[in-house]
Amino acid sequence: MSIKFVYSFDEGNKEMRSLLGGKGANLAEMTNIGLPVPQGFTITTEACNDYYDNDHKIRQEVLDQIDDKLAKLEAEQGKKLGSDENPLLVSVRSGAVFSMPGMMDTILNLGLNDTSVNGLISATKNERFSYDSYRRFIQMFSDVAMEVPKYKFENVLDKVKADKGYKFDTELTVDDLKEIVVEFKKIYKNEVGEDFPQEPKKQLLLAIEAVFRSWNNPRAIVYRKLNDIPNNLGTAVNIQSMVFGNMGSDSGTGVAFTRNPSTGENKLFGEYLIDAQGEDVVAGIRTPQSIDTLKTDMPEMYEQFVKITDILESHYKDMQDIEFTIEKGRLFILQTRNGKRTAKAAINIVVDLVNAGVIDKEEAIMRIEPNQLDQLLHPTFNAEALKDAQLLAKGLPASPGAATGKVYFHADDVVDHVKSGEKTILVRQETSPEDIEGMVNAEGILTARGGMTSHAAVVARGMGKCCVAGCGELSVDEAAREIRVGNRVIKEGEYISIDGSSGCVYLGSIEMTSVEVSGSFGEFMTWVDEVRDMMVRTNADNPRDAKKAIEFGAEGIGLCRTEHMFFEEERIPAVREMIIADNVEDRIKALDKLLPFQREDFHGIFKAMEGRPCNVRLLDPPLHEFLPHEDSAIEELANQMGIRTSELKKRVLDLDEFNPMLGHRGCRLAVTYPEICEMQARAIAQGAILAIKEGYEVVPEIMVPLIGTVNELKMLRPIIEETVNSELEKAGVSMNYTVGTMIEIPRACLTADEIAEVADFFSFGTNDLTQMGFGYSRDDAGKFLGEYVENGILEKDPFQVLDQKGIGKLVEMAVKLGRGAKSDLKLGICGEHGGEPSSVEFCYNQGLNYVSCSPFRVPIARLAAAQATIKKRSGAIERDK
Ligand code: PEP
Ligand code: MG
Repeated sequence: MSIKFVYSFDEGNKEMRSLLGGKGANLAEMTNIGLPVPQGFTITTEACNDYYDNDHKIRQEVLDQIDDKLAKLEAEQGKKLGSDENPLLVSVRSGAVFSMPGMMDTILNLGLNDTSVNGLISATKNERFSYDSYRRFIQMFSDVAMEVPKYKFENVLDKVKADKGYKFDTELTVDDLKEIVVEFKKIYKNEVGEDFPQEPKKQLLLAIEAVFRSWNNPRAIVYRKLNDIPNNLGTAVNIQSMVFGNMGSDSGTGVAFTRNPSTGENKLFGEYLIDAQGEDVVAGIRTPQSIDTLKTDMPEMYEQFVKITDILESHYKDMQDIEFTIEKGRLFILQTRNGKRTAKAAINIVVDLVNAGVIDKEEAIMRIEPNQLDQLLHPTFNAEALKDAQLLAKGLPASPGAATGKVYFHADDVVDHVKSGEKTILVRQETSPEDIEGMVNAEGILTARGGMTSHAAVVARGMGKCCVAGCGELSVDEAAREIRVGNRVIKEGEYISIDGSSGCVYLGSIEMTSVEVSGSFGEFMTWVDEVRDMMVRTNADNPRDAKKAIEFGAEGIGLCRTEHMFFEEERIPAVREMIIADNVEDRIKALDKLLPFQREDFHGIFKAMEGRPCNVRLLDPPLHEFLPHEDSAIEELANQMGIRTSELKKRVLDLDEFNPMLGHRGCRLAVTYPEICEMQARAIAQGAILAIKEGYEVVPEIMVPLIGTVNELKMLRPIIEETVNSELEKAGVSMNYTVGTMIEIPRACLTADEIAEVADFFSFGTNDLTQMGFGYSRDDAGKFLGEYVENGILEKDPFQVLDQKGIGKLVEMAVKLGRGAKSDLKLGICGEHGGEPSSVEFCYNQGLNYVSCSPFRVPIARLAAAQATIKKRSGAIERDK
């Protein structure tokens, strides 16, 4: 049986996304529910993949099916492609499974040639419109299908306008346009080496191939990488009969969202232009009008449109992003899709939909992409600092959030300066898909042109990046690398600040503040917690971070890295004294100086945790990290410490290691210097006792890092217990505490059954486990990991996303062996992966009791854990335990 590669719109439905692409499936669905959709057909994603498999050629079978559907379309419309009377014109658009705004290319008005342009004139009685459409088609076809640079055409247009003294394109006469068409065809011939194709079928096939090719253009590849979209999905191609929004004042075109995509407010939000084609709205070249004014401009059209938007939103049960065109008083819907939205809008919308009974809480939870919450947790400007800020201009509040950074005008410059550690704002006249890497790297985006649905606005909202668009008061000179506002000039490298929620642009940098969890977000997160059945803790080393994490919903500390406490200014002299001591007595003397500091640290943290479990890890890094290495700094320190420079130098040299990450660190420090372990255990006990005496409940978990053999723990556990118990006894206080270990060395995973006999808990240190499992130095892997991911050797950076296949197997083995030996063994993770959604899901499926991550990622981990629970319930995944 032959494969069906081409579907008319009336043959598909919305469930067929993977075959017809998002656009094609929705065009079919809208056709089915009786909405006014210009008819056409969709070439499937399978045909695209087949094109790649078949050496970049469209197979005859596919060509035949295209011919059939085209003939059917011509018959239905009563028009013929290329005809000299009332010709059929079509648009050719890509349509991937997941929407990829601005990434793929569109060709409009296909079918125009020297003959059919006359057909269009006789059908529309509008010669100017017909030639304008023809010149637009030549330009777009040449650019999109044949990669002829756009500016070559723009130059011709500009020259004609300059010669004639015109300001606007609308002033071009029929004769001007005819001349432009001739010039455009010359450009095509020069660039392509052939005449502009007059045969409409040839135009169509070249356009289809161009869409297939554009699946693999660099912009599309970058976008897919950013959004985790697989490369092998392919794109569909939609061929749709054209309707025209540029046929006079009773025509127009626009884009509207059924709700506000920045805030989620339940009010139609959109823009349109009278007498224009769709590209004019999206490209941001003319500044459009708000959809509200359509009510007065064309009341009947407005009423019809509102009805359709209601139908579409209740049909799809989600906010829709709808493209429409009005052709001589007739409304057509060209596209609908679930609208891109900010995290704030996403939350407000699902909360509204749940409260209106449209979807249930679990559906709401599943609809929010956990990483998107990051946007809500981003800082805004400090209100006090803002009072003194100097307002420069005001544009459109295109994507909320605030950003401060140095101005750069080119995406490449942004990327370069971000690499050297600067914060940047990308400033452009308007953005285009070529700017994507600059947009990703900048703190925020500012454009002088374009509306709320311009490229900059749509892409920034999707990324959760702050953006001010259409700031017309600014004159942006990208070549001279400067912005002018009145007589003020801001040069490249100077600071500005932008507020994507108000549209304000300020001079200089402004201090930021952090955010709070409240309103709909708070309500949503309570639903998340109702569903979730794995705990989320935080990695925090001080009471301030611990409190922030509790606000974000942390249920305990999963990792308190005590070495961070050692680095503070007043303690570092005692730490260094301890390190250079060459006998136990001197070391103990130095440790005695550190004890009160550590006691206060723990006391503060235990109080902040208010009875929540608190995992404290003993000293982990190699000691040389606490000493200077440069000669001058060593000399200065020696003077401060009152010892000879040569003596200190010798100690620094002694501590030097070839492989510090595999050297004298972790529990190995405690094994060789048990007095360090003792001091820390004592400080934990004393801090806890102080808090208990003040009425706090305290649940310490004392964690030994970097265990590779059970014998290490066998040696250290008694030291810890004896120290803590003797402190408790002295104080006459009783307290439950546990002693466990990190599992972060492959050998620990392989012998986890033995280790479990001596440990009350395991916490997976997947940073070190990844380092040692792959044999990639955590500190040096940056040099090659980028290329590994780019070349597909690794799918993801394994230090960010847990490598489930390899490192995950080690975790799985340790869980099985550990729980096999001790069924109530408590299990957690405290490596960076504890806040990464796919890794959280993995941990859930392994039966871990908790994940732990940095405070700002706690809500993300909570949501990811709830989603894992729902998936398990729906049978989508199996839980191991
Ligand atoms: C780990 O190795 O995963 C871990 C949490 O410890 P650190 O990052 O401090 O080595
Ligand atoms: Mg570690």
